Amino acid sequence: MDAKEALKVYFGYDSFKPGQGEIIEAILAGKDVLAIMPTGAGKSVCYQVPAMLLPGITIVISPLISLMQDQVKALNEAGIHAGYINSSLTDAQISKVYAKAVEGAYKILYVAPERLESHDFIDFTERIEISMVTVDEAHCISQWGQDFRPSYLKIVDFIDRFRQRPVVSAFTATATEEVKTDISCVLKLKEPKVVVTGFDRENLYFDVEATRKKGDYVLKYIKEHPDDSGIIYCATRRNVDALYEMLSDAGVSVARYHAGMNNEERKESQDDFIYDRSSVIVATNAFGMGIDKSNVRFVIHYNMPQSMENYYQEAGRAGRDGEPSQCILLFSPQDIMINKFLLEHKDFTDIPDEDIETIKQRDARRLQVIEGYCRTSGCLRNYILAYFGEKREAPCDSCGNCHREFTEIDMTEEAKQVINCVYEAKGRYGLSIITGTLLGADRARLKEVGATDYKTYGALKNRSEAELRLLISQLIMDGYLYQTADRYSVIRMGDIDRLKGPDTHIMIRESKNKDAEGQTARQRSRRSTDKLTKAGYELFEVLRRLRLTIAREEGMPPYIIFSDKTLIDMSAKAPTTKASMLNVSGVGAVKYNKYGERFIEAISLFLDERPNSVTSIVDIKSY
Ligand code: ADP
Ligand code: MG
Repeated sequence: MDAKEALKVYFGYDSFKPGQGEIIEAILAGKDVLAIMPTGAGKSVCYQVPAMLLPGITIVISPLISLMQDQVKALNEAGIHAGYINSSLTDAQISKVYAKAVEGAYKILYVAPERLESHDFIDFTERIEISMVTVDEAHCISQWGQDFRPSYLKIVDFIDRFRQRPVVSAFTATATEEVKTDISCVLKLKEPKVVVTGFDRENLYFDVEATRKKGDYVLKYIKEHPDDSGIIYCATRRNVDALYEMLSDAGVSVARYHAGMNNEERKESQDDFIYDRSSVIVATNAFGMGIDKSNVRFVIHYNMPQSMENYYQEAGRAGRDGEPSQCILLFSPQDIMINKFLLEHKDFTDIPDEDIETIKQRDARRLQVIEGYCRTSGCLRNYILAYFGEKREAPCDSCGNCHREFTEIDMTEEAKQVINCVYEAKGRYGLSIITGTLLGADRARLKEVGATDYKTYGALKNRSEAELRLLISQLIMDGYLYQTADRYSVIRMGDIDRLKGPDTHIMIRESKNKDAEGQTARQRSRRSTDKLTKAGYELFEVLRRLRLTIAREEGMPPYIIFSDKTLIDMSAKAPTTKASMLNVSGVGAVKYNKYGERFIEAISLFLDERPNSVTSIVDIKSY
């Protein structure tokens, strides 16, 4: 069997995704590999296919128990013999796994990094043939990464111990130079083949909604997407609990997850979500690593996260199956305060003093970048890609800003008034006093601080508060004004010399008729099933129910039986024979043997009841 045949038989796919082919080829030629590919790009296949073709066992080092269990389930479903060893097993169970492995029962064995230090494990590895050591989520090796795991540093000792060194392959979605170098050096990769695929996730639609009524927005979104599974990230536990209550009261089937809950509760919530018992989960960023659920259709950030790195990783949990999915960030200026507060109270135990200042500066810079994302009127996708080092010129036409109309207004004169006001305030006050003064608001606090006597009091009273805030944040971004990073967050004078030049203009871009645009965004999200006719969609619903029934029988997450993408393709092709069923993307030989007939039966029944119905808009049956 060659790599392509293995892809078809075990995974049911006809062709490789970008990068997969060359990675697999290199591994099979005995070369080390370092692969950097975004979430959903299909990294697992890159080591699972060669693992099937290499003579011995592949050891996969993976950071999280849930992740291992999930992958092992999926592999066994696909007919690949895999096992795992981690702290969720008793000693007796572990001995059994060792014994089975020695008998040759597994091609792939997942282990937690801590295990590599155990004597029993090392003894065990001397009794088996190890062809490859794979390090998944390899960024955990880097102190620069967000998920640093000290025990990942032990991997290299483990590898060094072999007389005959196995192939070493490392995979991650984190692309920064620091992390890349760390992985390569710490793992001592030997002239590795380095494969970096593009960072774009074409099926993700990005949007930023500036809104203060976040709860209403979320509820409306969920009501409009009743069949979709999604994650809502909040910055704090309190937000999680509050939003969870609100959604439960509104009758949404929702789970929640944060570090304040005990292990049991968290596991239950996570399972409810993964097994599609709850369609939505509200969580802090403690939730997610190790979630391979492929049919997450939306990720909403209720608060702005602390960095673009965090945002892209969290948002990237949408649409792993390649189907169109939405990533929406709900932004209000208050989010900046929350994040500054969280960063101020960050735990620096175990971090050497000399590093603390560097880290603080880095955090502040990262916060500015993500704030820029929330405020930009340019293409959101290009903003993200530019940050990760991929330059694009053309707007993507698949993000909120590309679908929004902006008008430019010259606000140079207004900008000068704002600066005069900050001057009069002598850098002592924050946004609310400055805007209040300029608008000429009738507020006791303004009298108290003497702002009602400023020359600029009421100078911009014909403008709206929203416009003024937009203007001020633009002035801050451009460096004319400066907002302090402490809790009081006062506004001070920045570099205003440039504003004195006659050619300098401050242009503000305002977005128009967002509501109508929101409509387009929502329509786009339906595109996943666009190729289905009404009958096709009904069939999809039938097959989804069948999948759920099977999942319950087998105690499996539904998406491990078949992904949404596979079910959609199946609904479009409506196969009633073995050959045509095997033609559906994601139906491999083993899965066919397990479930093929039940699905064919359901499809035949459906077609019998509705003779001559066409399920697909384009005639793809002829392919
Ligand atoms: P990553 O680990 O890179 O985030 P996964 O390995 O979890 O991504 O794969 C993401 C999804 O892509 C899975 O649903 C997987 O089955 C699917 N996939 C992988 N390779 C292919 C392929 N060659 N063709 C179609 N789908 C694929
Ligand atoms: Mg992965």
